[in-house]
Amino acid sequence: MCGIIGYTGKNNAREILIEGLHRLEYRGYDSAGVSVLDGGVITTVKSQGRIDALDEKIGGTLPGTSGIGHTRWATHGAPTDKNAHPHASADGKFAIVHNGIIENYESLRAELTRHGMEFRSETDSEVVVNLLAYYYDGDLKNTVMKATSRLEGSYALGIVCADFPGRLFAVRSMSPLIIGVGAGENYFASDVTAFISHTKNIIHMEDGQFAEVTPGGITLYDAIGRQVEPVYEKVTWDAEAAEKGGYEHFMLKEIMEQPRALEATINPRIHGGKITPEGLEALDMENIDRIVITACGSAYHAGVVGKYVIEELCRIPTTAELASELRYSSPILNERTLVIAISQSGETADTLAAMREAKKLGAPVLAIVNVVGSSVAVLADYVLYTWAGPEIAVATTKGYTTQVAMLDMFAVWAAGKLGTVTPEREAELTAAIASLPASVQRAIYLSSNVEEIAERNYRHASLFFIGRNIDYASCLEASLKLKEVSYIHSEAYAAGELKHGTIALISPEQLVIAVACYGALRDKTMSNIQQVKARGANVIAVAREGDRTMFAEADDVIFVPGTEPIFMAVPQIIPMQLLAYYVARENGCDIDKPKNLAKSVTVE
Ligand code: GLU
Repeated sequence: MCGIIGYTGKNNAREILIEGLHRLEYRGYDSAGVSVLDGGVITTVKSQGRIDALDEKIGGTLPGTSGIGHTRWATHGAPTDKNAHPHASADGKFAIVHNGIIENYESLRAELTRHGMEFRSETDSEVVVNLLAYYYDGDLKNTVMKATSRLEGSYALGIVCADFPGRLFAVRSMSPLIIGVGAGENYFASDVTAFISHTKNIIHMEDGQFAEVTPGGITLYDAIGRQVEPVYEKVTWDAEAAEKGGYEHFMLKEIMEQPRALEATINPRIHGGKITPEGLEALDMENIDRIVITACGSAYHAGVVGKYVIEELCRIPTTAELASELRYSSPILNERTLVIAISQSGETADTLAAMREAKKLGAPVLAIVNVVGSSVAVLADYVLYTWAGPEIAVATTKGYTTQVAMLDMFAVWAAGKLGTVTPEREAELTAAIASLPASVQRAIYLSSNVEEIAERNYRHASLFFIGRNIDYASCLEASLKLKEVSYIHSEAYAAGELKHGTIALISPEQLVIAVACYGALRDKTMSNIQQVKARGANVIAVAREGDRTMFAEADDVIFVPGTEPIFMAVPQIIPMQLLAYYVARENGCDIDKPKNLAKSVTVE
């Protein structure tokens, strides 16, 4: 999720670690820390806030030529000094830094507590250091293997042990980690950018691999401890490009990160084929007779998707309301209305105000939010974190899809509780949710024609998105994405509504993007496509993979992999995010920082 760094060599470790952390800061920073090893003693300093606060806290000098560092993007436990990394074992032998989520931390924590190990933080990560201390038998490699074999989830780890000065272990499993190869000194980090000013020679670690890193060398192992030959590569990018993982913009990087982000949202919440959203135990769905989803911008569009999904699966009347409207509409809410507030940053002023209004009226409030410990999370009665990781581009992409996936999961969980779906259907729906990351990966693959379509169409002054049901909800988000990054005007229209007035605007060459993925209404949308075609419009269809008859009507077709129809909103937004991105690029726009916008809207 955010950043780790390790250094071992001949120079002062503190300076190299702090410089590296500064370069990783873009990945998210709510706290930071370092552990430096000197003369068999590990010194750990950590602090809430930015890297400068950490540097100040370290103060004068911190001797030692090896160590590990971390900038945290909290997933488990508020961003406090105590929860900051590195985490040290009680006996002072080990310190670790961790990026990712340990999914089975609760059972490991219970087990280790039974063995007398102490826990000092609320993080999932602390189980790692206690496992190391528990299994330690003097053989460091063996201890690392034993401890990590117990972990489920995603992790990149940096490990330092007081008994082995200058020796670091780096472990990678579903979280990025790269080794930097120097002369008489070596590095590892979540991103090349952390050490690029020192070396451009790198080794990409693969999932399941771990490495022993000393000043003189790097030994790479596979998951069962067999030595593997490292593949050396040379980085040709500069530091800024490295931050973007080689992508031209953060927006594109974040679009491509969506399979991983969705895994982080979904995987920890499916156990034994059932959705188990931690934190909702006390929410009794039998007491709820109405749901109001409230949010702003893209989060509101996620809410519109949620309305369709929840109504279909749970049969509870559900509406999606703009938070800026709800707060002043003297809303009718009570203790039987569940209010679901959605916000990526968790600091959206309008959403917070709507939540306060709801709480005043006695409605239970559930928040779907990305930033741990944010104001929305604190104010809510129940919280579901999306765990999408930090989002840098102002226009949200992975923030949005993880919100939709979270709503999908909520709907399946609630339907199971209410008995509005059979256990067989619940299992089917859960399996479909589990496969969403793979669907999104395939949607990225199938979008290979989007760049070329954008190159042909970027000059339009105005365009329409049309669709029905969930397809319509996706149109709302697609239209906003295009406006935000390319400044091109567009409107999202419910396809069946066009003929009630707006079709007057359709004239030859008008660009219409028709989303026709939702199976049950595909033919209805097809009729609407024919209506605009008959008036000379140029139509780009977004259709389900295999729907080849679409070629007969549309001028261009972009395919999206099929999944459970009500969950299509997740994969089908991918080509439209990419379209917005490429159109903006063709128009020379400042994609990551569009004019007049801010990432977190903390004003009314
Ligand atoms: N899950 C860990 C925590 O909340 C690590 C988060 C990260 O990747 O920074 O502390």
